[in-house]
Amino acid sequence: MHEQNSSTTGLSRRGLMQAAGVTTIAGLAAATTTGAAAAPAGAVKKPSRGDAALVLLGTAGGPTVYADRAGVSSAIVVGDAFYLIDLGHGALSQVAAAQLSTATGPAARPLSGLAGVFLTHMHSDHLAEFSSLIINGMWNGITDPSDPVPIYGPGDRGGLPPVLGDRDAPPVIAPDDPTPGTVTMTTRAIEGYAQDLNERLRGSGGVDPGAAFAPHDIVLPDGVDAPVDAAPMPRVSPFLVHEDSRVRVTATLVEHSPVFPAFAFRFETEGGSVVFSGDTAPSENLIELANGTDILVHEVIDQAWAEARFPEPRTPAQEATLKHLLEAHTTIEQVGPVAESAGAGTLVLNHLVPGDGPVPQYRKAKKGFSGRLVVGRDLDEVAIGG
Ligand SMILES: [Zn+2]
Ligand SMILES: [Zn+2]
Repeated sequence: MHEQNSSTTGLSRRGLMQAAGVTTIAGLAAATTTGAAAAPAGAVKKPSRGDAALVLLGTAGGPTVYADRAGVSSAIVVGDAFYLIDLGHGALSQVAAAQLSTATGPAARPLSGLAGVFLTHMHSDHLAEFSSLIINGMWNGITDPSDPVPIYGPGDRGGLPPVLGDRDAPPVIAPDDPTPGTVTMTTRAIEGYAQDLNERLRGSGGVDPGAAFAPHDIVLPDGVDAPVDAAPMPRVSPFLVHEDSRVRVTATLVEHSPVFPAFAFRFETEGGSVVFSGDTAPSENLIELANGTDILVHEVIDQAWAEARFPEPRTPAQEATLKHLLEAHTTIEQVGPVAESAGAGTLVLNHLVPGDGPVPQYRKAKKGFSGRLVVGRDLDEVAIGG
């Protein structure tokens, strides 16, 4: 049964990638099933390295949980490997639903083929499934300590952010080390789940997650000292984060103050390029990073919704929160011109705020953009260079 599912995976994904444009994996379930039934398990050849696709795993922004959209997470698939960008709530189930792994056989698992993880910034809607990845990875295909999966994300913020508005200073969580980066977050996740991990390693075997993953704090560009507490970010040119035989990943600093650092990533593949904005207000650094990209995956917020959420008269604290929402994100009206300035071929909206807003409202982002607009849905797939 598992092999049949895996074969379905390969057939589905390759078929979608051969067809230029956007397809919803779930929407093709009938066609996929027919194809799988016609092809014996194991008869589908693996995709060639030139096959590349963007898969939207989750498209909702913010910590609110929605029935119809998982938290923000995306994948870049290149041949038989894939990379995850952010891990919002539900991300791992979506990896399984999207059938990203092309591995077959009894040892195949949903995360077989995971070749790297990239975290844009330290906000829970981008990290909710991080600990799940770490502690459950060994049961889902992350089993090779000789080839640990690299994880790249922010380092230590360098100090607590300011308190917004006229609020009293709140209690500090973990005052001895209140702004940990990716490496420390990984260590703490493993330690926090030590009872489970020790029981499983002793009772079932498995792999020490501290050896199966290789976390990295992304080194800031020369001349940037942490923390930076206020917008705008320093102007920096794109810098290299990761390179292997399939992808070259560069990054820049984006405008998500008081979060620091917040990164955008650019993936270069043989077939083309994809840029992920992460969470940001309109950003000159991002426009430089995204210059001429085939696909720009950009966050978006509905300003009218945000303003309605905090109706006037507003308290100073409410005013500060609304100001923060609008100055740390990109509105529907702003995102089209950003994509136009970057010269992006296709603009894919993700991290929709709110996650249950009407799609026609988000389609207004086409104004000011001459390329193709995709209002992202969970499990949409976009061919890279197709
Ligand atoms: Zn977010
Ligand atoms: Zn954020």
